[in-house]
Amino acid sequence: MSNDKSKEKQFVKDITPQSEDFSKWYLDVIKKADLMSYAPVRGCIVFKPDSYEIWENIQKELDIRFKETGHRNAYFPLFIPESFLQKEKDHIEGFNPELPWVTEAGGEKLEERLAIRPTSETMIGHMYAQWINSYRDLPLLINQWANVVRWEKRTQPFLRTTEFLWQEGHTAHEDEADARRETMQMLEIYKEFAENILAMPVILGQKTPSEKFAGAVDTFSLEAMMKDGKAVQAGTSHYLGTNFAVAFDIKYLDRENQHQFCHTTSWGVSTRLIGALIMVHGDDRGLVLPPKVAPTQLIMIPIGPPKSRELVIGRVDELHKLLKQAGVRVKVDDRADQSPGWKFNEYEMRGVPIRLELGPRDMENGQVVLVSRVSGEKKVVAQENLVEEVQNMLAEIHQQMFDKAKQFRDDNFTAVDTLDEFKLFLEQKRGFALAGWCGSDACEAQVKEETGATSRNIPFEPSVRKETCLVCAEKAVHTVLFGKAY
Ligand SMILES: [Zn+2]
Repeated sequence: MSNDKSKEKQFVKDITPQSEDFSKWYLDVIKKADLMSYAPVRGCIVFKPDSYEIWENIQKELDIRFKETGHRNAYFPLFIPESFLQKEKDHIEGFNPELPWVTEAGGEKLEERLAIRPTSETMIGHMYAQWINSYRDLPLLINQWANVVRWEKRTQPFLRTTEFLWQEGHTAHEDEADARRETMQMLEIYKEFAENILAMPVILGQKTPSEKFAGAVDTFSLEAMMKDGKAVQAGTSHYLGTNFAVAFDIKYLDRENQHQFCHTTSWGVSTRLIGALIMVHGDDRGLVLPPKVAPTQLIMIPIGPPKSRELVIGRVDELHKLLKQAGVRVKVDDRADQSPGWKFNEYEMRGVPIRLELGPRDMENGQVVLVSRVSGEKKVVAQENLVEEVQNMLAEIHQQMFDKAKQFRDDNFTAVDTLDEFKLFLEQKRGFALAGWCGSDACEAQVKEETGATSRNIPFEPSVRKETCLVCAEKAVHTVLFGKAY
């Protein structure tokens, strides 16, 4: 036992404590948990099987929700002709600095440069103009699962990588009301998904004009708080008005046989959600994965002396089969060359929600021990009730993780009247602040310049409303959520 203890100490030393250096903690954890490798191309990473499987589980859950609301998946080309991007002025201005270009192929210089897509509004707009003729073709509700590239100056694994994976929904509607309904519906779906699947509380709101998507009329976002008090924008939904419809001539014949421009939307979440869930839930022992997306929900570890090994492993295999049949993502670690103590640490570090221990005495008593990753609580349960107990415990863990994250956010949330008050808050604490804003770009820019924090969004339901601008003290038109962000 003492041997296990000293190993444990050494083990934890490999991960920098969050309180010491949060960024270092993050990099230590994702490397040690084997989630990624740096790729030989700057700013790109390899998603190793465990992180890719988290993404697959995210995809499955979102795809169900998209299809339930009438969307279908399609796939569009990776290359975007330069002339397409030039058609929407704000769009090209916004994305130009981040575009990689293909200028040569097949040994010849291309007549027209091709951008590698940063997002697909232009390509999809071009196609929609051909597909949509009448109001009967609307609404057109399509989603694409794809990779996109943005040549970022500063990158960070999962949170901001040059190439990343995402989904982008693109829809076309008869009028503003229908397009706005879609924009809000998708934002609500993202919120429900973030909370019920990732156990991640989020704040919904509208982006200020300076922070909105290039080419959008209105951008809405969900913002989550990481354990260092910084924000991650966990998803966005845009009402694009007729901006792209005019640029790409997406028109339809209405019920009076008149030509009208479509109103379009787009919305997306990306693999940065993986980074976010690590930073929302992780602790000094490593990852803490939400049960609904964890690649392994339960790890089974047989324990006890070699003479009883065969018997114990036999029973573990039976229970493994039972859990698998019930749909639990379960694995067995029966390696003889690693001690149980080493395994306990290993799977805690990898964030597996439940550990199951089974030894000779448990065999005699017809029981197993279940240990929760999030609370450390040990529960002795009868083998005959195992499936039900595990399913209950997974649901409980999800709820505990959500409550914990929500509590953390509430504890690091304030409201301020002045910029000085906000500065003091950021010096002494960390987190988000609500503040009044007069609506001027200059005041918003000054907050960023003096604090490094940006406006995250204008929350739909702020806990308090402020009457005056935190910078100029003029009348506030909005209560804005400010915070430092990834
Ligand atoms: Zn102001």
